[in-house]
Amino acid sequence: MTQATDYIASIQATVEGRDPNQPEFQEAVGNFLHTITPVFEAHPEYIKANILGRLTEPERAVQFQVAWQDDQGHMQVNRGFRVQFNSAIGPYKGGLRFHPSVTLSIVKFLGFEQIFKNSLTGLPIGGGKGGADFDPKGKSDAEIMRFCQSFMIELQRHIGLDLDVPAGDIGVGGREIGYLYGMYKRLRGAERGILTGKGLSYGGSLVRPEATGYGLIYYTEAMLKENGQTLAGKTVVVSGAGNVATYAIQKAQEYGAKVITASDSNGYVVDETGIDVATLREIKEVKRGRMRDYAAAVPTATYYEGSVWDADLKYDVALPCATQNEIDAAQAKRLAAAGVIAVAEGANMPSTPEAIAEYAAAGLFYGPAKAANAGGVAVSALEMSQDSRRMSDSFAVVDGQLKAIMENLFAESVAAAKEYGVAGDYMAGANIAGFTKVASAMLAQGW
Ligand code: GLU
Repeated sequence: MTQATDYIASIQATVEGRDPNQPEFQEAVGNFLHTITPVFEAHPEYIKANILGRLTEPERAVQFQVAWQDDQGHMQVNRGFRVQFNSAIGPYKGGLRFHPSVTLSIVKFLGFEQIFKNSLTGLPIGGGKGGADFDPKGKSDAEIMRFCQSFMIELQRHIGLDLDVPAGDIGVGGREIGYLYGMYKRLRGAERGILTGKGLSYGGSLVRPEATGYGLIYYTEAMLKENGQTLAGKTVVVSGAGNVATYAIQKAQEYGAKVITASDSNGYVVDETGIDVATLREIKEVKRGRMRDYAAAVPTATYYEGSVWDADLKYDVALPCATQNEIDAAQAKRLAAAGVIAVAEGANMPSTPEAIAEYAAAGLFYGPAKAANAGGVAVSALEMSQDSRRMSDSFAVVDGQLKAIMENLFAESVAAAKEYGVAGDYMAGANIAGFTKVASAMLAQGW
């Protein structure tokens, strides 16, 4: 045992002891800690400053009641959260998730990942996350609006242009950001930069809706290129059918790949001729329908119940874009056996630790979420910058910046992995590159 391994083990024990009932948070911290030892061997000053102790405990976490009236006139109560994890390199930045599974553990895992993801973008943003255990599924527009308004009545006291700037995540898209922003404006006045993911007519940025999906493909292409491959001609399996999945499918198709699946929480569609993005968008964004409806609308598509990762398919690239822990060890083994050469994560933490171990055992190229899906928050930071300048950049300018950011963060992950003796491990590289920037900022600012 070295001083570094002892220190990291003590941090793990502290986190486990403090929050034994937060499995997702433990998982995210565990994934991070087991790749970071070489940095502490090279920088004992980080141990003295207890950088990890400070990084694994949020700077601030609020939980609040969100009471709202449903269409029948009944008062409903949900639980809201905002976790402000680390502000060493900039204001807290990260999305809001509305989903019945949301707990403090989920918000903390997302906020923790966000610290390093945001750092990797090279932009001045710290890490935060929030949300509520509210289920938007089946709610009317009016119910969504009343929920968002009530949520913002509390959230507004915790956020600020130089303090904390939320955005969307699962269950929070353009509609919800609009209602949240409208309420913020009534309470505090117009501050365009207070939320990102806004509509174009009131301070949003071009490319923001597409950014996570496009960024995932820019990253995946960079990772394949590094290994003498390209997306052109590859067969791709995508899970999810939200923003991330939709625009990942579109961009992968533009790169000459064939994407044969999309999924929701009930089931998935397979279309060997390639997913039709226009129909997918119509069903998801306009009709707010399900994958079953997609299969009914597209004659070449077949609908199956269950997880796409259990499907019997032959393909080259896996892009999980649904949710956390959607791929377990058995499913990881199955995809490696199906001929997959690369996995890149559009969702946050979609692979269990055991699945990640299987990717390594099978020699797959693995792009971890905090690098591969950083495009969304990167364009959010570009939106903040446009709001401050009171200017809007063109689609081509923002898309060019996004592509450069994704290629750059992949290159930095490769370089960090090489520098710390774990060449080719893009997960370790991303963790190290994201971490060292935050750690040096914390050290410089004292304690
Ligand atoms: N929720 C997204 C993420 O996981 C985007 C956050 C943002 O744009 O602030 O990174």
